Amino acid sequence: MHAMFNELEITGRARTHVVQHDAPRFAAYPDVAAAFLRLREAAAHDGIELRPYSSFRDYAAQTRIWEMKFSGRAPLYDIEGQVRDRTGWDEDEIIGHILDWSALPGASRHQWGTEIDVVDGAVMAPGYKPRLLPDEVAAGGLFAPLHRWLDDHIHEHGFFQPYARYQGGMFPEPWHLSYAPVSMRAIDDLTLDVLRRTTEASELPGKARVLALLPQILERHVRNIVPPPPECVW
Ligand SMILES: [Zn+2]
Repeated sequence: MHAMFNELEITGRARTHVVQHDAPRFAAYPDVAAAFLRLREAAAHDGIELRPYSSFRDYAAQTRIWEMKFSGRAPLYDIEGQVRDRTGWDEDEIIGHILDWSALPGASRHQWGTEIDVVDGAVMAPGYKPRLLPDEVAAGGLFAPLHRWLDDHIHEHGFFQPYARYQGGMFPEPWHLSYAPVSMRAIDDLTLDVLRRTTEASELPGKARVLALLPQILERHVRNIVPPPPECVW
């Protein structure tokens, strides 16, 4: 089977596979952008303003997230969204806990143009900054109604939640939607060799330990997704 994306695209070091959309502002693979706009229209009928919070992210953007968390300039959260105390941690512990919530640069699904993190613009007060943490989507949270709607409607539009629940890899991110018809093909393009070459060519903090842990990162954090139901892959 042909590769969906080339090596630069699958690792977010090119953006030749995505189109920029202006209103709402997001970037995605063309089929994904079209499907998302249909999903957004369906949501609008039910009073929800499905707003892309984060869509395509390139390698440089993912590296900035990694650097902030590795250095301690950005907090690391536990599964409930509480800030962790990182006193005394070695590099492996830091890397492991970054990976709870954030992907390794080169290994983020957001680099494929198939993933969109969503919020509901209709319920946000002016100036509200979504944090994308569990309390926003839990019962009683600001985005709880949005999430009840997503549960009922995303599959018919080809979307699923690869981080719907914790199964030893990424912590649950129900706001993270993936367009299965493209992403289920793209995932095969992200091989260990591709990830190794990408990381070797980088100046990523923790690089030596990341390279040593790479097979485990690929299994636990890339391949270990909650699969889409059959009706949403076509
Ligand atoms: Zn996401």
